Amino acid sequence: MSNSFPRPVSCPAKAFLMGEYAVLRGAPAWLAAVDVRATAYAPRASFGECEAVATPIVAAATDHVRRYLTGHARTFEAPAPSVDTARFHHGGRKLGLGSSAAVAAAVVGYYLRAAGLSVDDPEIRGVALRVATAAHREVQPRGSGADVAAAVLGGILRFEAGDAVAQDWPEGLVVGLVDSGAPASTPELVKRVLGARERDPAEHDRAISRIRAASERFGSALAAPDGGPSSRLDATRHACAEHNAALRTLSALSGAPLMTPALETIVRAAEGLSVAAKPSGAAGGDLAVVFADSQASLDRLAVRLLRGHGLALLGHVQIGAPGLREEALAPLSSRVRGFFAMGVASRRQRLTEATGIPSERFDELDAGGIDLSEAAHMIENVIGGLTLPLGVATNFRINGRDYFVPMCVEESSVVAAASNAAKMVREGGGFVAHADPPWMIAQVQLVGDDRDAGEVANVARGLRSELLARADAAHPRLVSRGGGARDVEVRVLDERNVVVHVLVDCRDAMGANLINTVAEAVAPTLERATGWRCVLRILSNLSDRRITRVTARVPVTALAGPGWSGADVAERIAAASHFADCDPYRAATHNKGIMNGVDAVVLATGNDWRAIEAGAHAFACRDGQYRPLATWSVQGDELCGDMQLPTAVGVVGGLTTTHRSAKVALDLLGRPSATELGRVIAATGLASNLAALRALATDGIQRGHMSLHARTLAFGAGAIGEEVDQVAEKLVSVGEIKPERAESLLRELRGQKS
Ligand code: NAD
Repeated sequence: MSNSFPRPVSCPAKAFLMGEYAVLRGAPAWLAAVDVRATAYAPRASFGECEAVATPIVAAATDHVRRYLTGHARTFEAPAPSVDTARFHHGGRKLGLGSSAAVAAAVVGYYLRAAGLSVDDPEIRGVALRVATAAHREVQPRGSGADVAAAVLGGILRFEAGDAVAQDWPEGLVVGLVDSGAPASTPELVKRVLGARERDPAEHDRAISRIRAASERFGSALAAPDGGPSSRLDATRHACAEHNAALRTLSALSGAPLMTPALETIVRAAEGLSVAAKPSGAAGGDLAVVFADSQASLDRLAVRLLRGHGLALLGHVQIGAPGLREEALAPLSSRVRGFFAMGVASRRQRLTEATGIPSERFDELDAGGIDLSEAAHMIENVIGGLTLPLGVATNFRINGRDYFVPMCVEESSVVAAASNAAKMVREGGGFVAHADPPWMIAQVQLVGDDRDAGEVANVARGLRSELLARADAAHPRLVSRGGGARDVEVRVLDERNVVVHVLVDCRDAMGANLINTVAEAVAPTLERATGWRCVLRILSNLSDRRITRVTARVPVTALAGPGWSGADVAERIAAASHFADCDPYRAATHNKGIMNGVDAVVLATGNDWRAIEAGAHAFACRDGQYRPLATWSVQGDELCGDMQLPTAVGVVGGLTTTHRSAKVALDLLGRPSATELGRVIAATGLASNLAALRALATDGIQRGHMSLHARTLAFGAGAIGEEVDQVAEKLVSVGEIKPERAESLLRELRGQKS
């Protein structure tokens, strides 16, 4: 491998599972590598990237690895790396996942790889661990070194007295991380907690011993060969309770706010749900780690926390991530200057370079994604096809990750507007999006008049376990994928109508057909037990148990434009949002602007846009008045957007895996889960809304919209090639953007040429 072309190298973040603070006194601790990665890579001049300024941790890692390489007669010639840590951020806030250790390890790995050493070789990984640990300790002398071990080795580790040993994770213990909402400074907390020992050494040591005991108990539970999931969870729950009690003592001794109200809320919410919870890391905010007996229990906690307390399970973060590794590509950046001005071939080329999708895949888009014979198998009475343009919106960053967003839409300016708004949101750190688990609703209507409807409802409620079992039996493969029936809810509609909802986790499917099967499968049980007739058995498109919530914080300075201060624009957007909140006539148009973005992504990815439309508008009306799906307010020097949207979309089933354009679109998004796709769709909706409101609240929609619309008119008038832009520019300059004017301008242009 040539030194002039170093490969990117990445390392995962870490989360402590058990044993924090006591680990600094030699006790064992358990920690997991999580798949939020820091990547060191050579800046790409062709992407307009310049050499990054080294932070203290990058400088220390560089210095230590240089000394190692030159001391071992190896070259040290690679260009100074850029280090991408965007995934460690949520909006403008950094999550407490140990970015400095991952950065140190990634930089060390980058130079080792550039010197021709394989970072997969256990011996070289050992070198990387030693060098990165020394570099990290130089910058953060109080660290245990456990986070560097997780960054290099990955997986799940037991860490004791400087030694890390890989652990197997047992079946039936599911782990999640919850964002407890506030940043915390680990070095500062550690300093205060360790310093408090001087105040009351005996009490301090007792608390540390309790954490040590909790950690050992947890370790025994993980290792127990035949304990079974419930006794393992019980032991984990006791360990968490012990750990939390010790943290409260350390908090009282040190005055450091370790168990914040949000962390206590998470611990309380977990009670009664077969879930154990404790802070992860130094506490004081940041993260909680939760342990459950199943994904279903974890999801129930997530729903309770998000809906009840606004606290989010980090659904996109998985534990047990691989450690130091070489990457085929540098981190994806969707911030591409001049994408708008490129030709189609250059755009495809750029996407190939950035995503690694082979260029031939883009050729598949030429034919529109399906041929006539495929179309004839999709619907009835086929006579042809209808192709719409597929574009890509740039600048999107969601939960610290960049996306090229595929959008299929016929209306000019929608893609440009979404890209433009995403750029403004990016200046505030990007979108933050959290999603409910993918629960859909199967409805069964019970009709009768020979019994009290309330009594019938009670009988149906009593059938909960049987209905859940029948629903699961209808989809055994869904259950084996981690989905399945989750709950039963019963409502009396009137004295002759009762409706039973069965909530089903559909995993990566949109779920309409899955749900319809469930509705039909449970109906006979309900008929038999209640004596009432089941009439309708079908999903509800008001998928309000599958909501994605997306927020954005835009610095007001990013909103400024010619003749408008950012603060003015922000105030006017907030006023426009209030207008929509008060008036359904405005709310309808406000939401149409949101659906410009939402539908375009739904369509591009082969999803059912009628289902999304039905769900969105029914949800917009949930309190009886039709309201805006997204609202905006000014908070300090930021404009803050907040949107909730039912996102019943899939990445399997329907057209998603058969339509070639939809497959390319999903590949562009990095083959997301259904939930991740929902987050992208919601963010695109919020971006479209911001763009529309900014235009409306300032110059009016016509100026920007019409200059783009002019191209459509020029094309419609028969302009080809360069003529399209020439006619469009003329239309804008004469200020008359009308079809007949486009035709006359085209005639003039051709007359001049001839
Ligand atoms: P589908 O019928 O294709 O079922 C999804 C399939 O994917 C299942 O067979 C499932 O076993 C399989 N699968 C593979 N991997 C999976 C994973 N990881 N997670 C979940 N399932 C996995 O699709 P669907 O999602 O049940 O239904 C969607 C279709 O139904 C859409 O085409 C929609 O237009 C249509 N539809 C909609 C409505 C409505 O919205 N009212 C009504 C009827 C049908």
